Amino acid sequence: MGRVNRAGVVLLMEKNGEETKNPRTIVWVTEHGFQGWTCSECDWNYPLPTLLNDPEAKTAYDRLALGKFREHACENYAARLGRADSQSFTARIRKLVAQGFKPKDAVELLVQEVELEYRNQPKVLEQARAEGEDFLRRVRAGLI
Ligand SMILES: [Zn+2]
Repeated sequence: MGRVNRAGVVLLMEKNGEETKNPRTIVWVTEHGFQGWTCSECDWNYPLPTLLNDPEAKTAYDRLALGKFREHACENYAARLGRADSQSFTARIRKLVAQGFKPKDAVELLVQEVELEYRNQPKVLEQARAEGEDFLRRVRAGLI
């Protein structure tokens, strides 16, 4: 399992070979029609199955993804080019949590920001809320 930092967020760091200069992390990505887990260092990914709406099923999927993530060897995949999660609301929530916000407050703040940024795009706001809910569900399940 990962380490828990002061904000209560588990950092999923692992040794990558013998060197640890570039610890890999599992990253949630929602963009360009892709939704699922990816690796910060390589092209490994674990897409969210479509029509997976039940929270318990989602948590089971997250656990499975974590297991697969730990098993994969980055060397067997192409290196990741650029940041995978720059666009995702989840990445922004994580950033807020890293700054010291409680997960629940971070999600509320993110939703408020998105409300201002995307005034006439209810679908985007819906997406932000959904990612926020998923984030809190994972926190409750002890996944992140
Ligand atoms: Zn990898």
